[in-house]
Amino acid sequence: MTSIHLSQIVKRFGDFTALQEMDLRIHDGEFIALLGPSGCGKSTTMNIIAGMEDPSEGRVMFGDRDVTALPMQKRGVGFVFQNYAIFTHMTVRENLAYGPRMHGAPRAEIERRVVEMADFLDLGAILDRPSAGLSVNILQRLAIGRSAIMEPAIFLLDEPLSNVDAAFRAVMRRELKSLQQRFEQTMVYVTHDQLEAMTMADRIAVMDHGVLQQVGTPLEVYNAPANLFVAQFLGAPGMNLLPGMLDGDGIVLEGGGRIALDDREVRTARRATGRDVVYGFRPEEARMGEDGVTRPVSFVERIGARTILHMEGGIKAVFENDVAVAEGRPVTLSPNPGAARIFDAGTGARLEG
Ligand code: ATP
Repeated sequence: MTSIHLSQIVKRFGDFTALQEMDLRIHDGEFIALLGPSGCGKSTTMNIIAGMEDPSEGRVMFGDRDVTALPMQKRGVGFVFQNYAIFTHMTVRENLAYGPRMHGAPRAEIERRVVEMADFLDLGAILDRPSAGLSVNILQRLAIGRSAIMEPAIFLLDEPLSNVDAAFRAVMRRELKSLQQRFEQTMVYVTHDQLEAMTMADRIAVMDHGVLQQVGTPLEVYNAPANLFVAQFLGAPGMNLLPGMLDGDGIVLEGGGRIALDDREVRTARRATGRDVVYGFRPEEARMGEDGVTRPVSFVERIGARTILHMEGGIKAVFENDVAVAEGRPVTLSPNPGAARIFDAGTGARLEG
């Protein structure tokens, strides 16, 4: 097991700054997800940990060892990419055995490790099948096994599930988590899929435009987003964010309507630098009633267990599947008590009171 500290990392490509003073501590044996939209710098961060890219500034520490100048081959890091990297002219067994064989492991030990990894990843029945012709799902599972069999102290996975189908992705989420628990690796997992991050990670590092936005457990980033970006990026559907202005004991919404605040919320909203705020609440934390925001329903999305109500102005709410609503009719929503998050409209930061 190894901890990782990215200390004040800056990465420039010419004039473009891909990472801005990134400081991130990843604990021993932790599963951390780097989460953010395309281009936010996730892969660059990963490549710097692996030693495939040099940082322009800052240091990379593994435990108390400075590895900034250490070449990739000497870092002891395992890597799995979006596109499986396996030898299609070899069998499943030969692919799994490749790494240990290159490292000169004794034959009996190679066999033991191959069988153990194959059992773990459910590849036992196809060990002697040629890899060519296996499905994308199985190839990616094999790629994970081929890297994991080396039992690297640090395991880096860059969007490993984006090319596999949805059902298989759900299975692999569980398997990757148990793989990491079994081998107690420090795992860094790059994804733009908040569901993957929420379901697997011990902590999530949310990134946008090369800037680390927030690091916390899945529930911390979901319940207490540091800013508007994190609030919007986590949750499906994302948080309702309604711009407005504090007026007495309520917020007058830009799109029409007024939301009453309790004393604590008024004190929180007063911290806004102007008095413009963004009022946030999760779609699943709202109820229909007499008070609140009234908007016509633009679309009713029935997804089996739940119904998602899309209202004009981009407001969404999640209800039981049999909720009686109709497109075109107005609905009045109010957030549950305590559900309000209030953001400074100027800085985007969540205000705490
Ligand atoms: P994606 O999920 O699309 O891979 P990402 O979050 O992993 O996105 P990076 O690949 O780290 O993002 O890229 C971050 C930014 O740095 C992007 O704007 C990208 O165009 C830029 N970038 C990455 N590598 C280089 C390079 N070698 N030269 C110039 N710009 C680069």
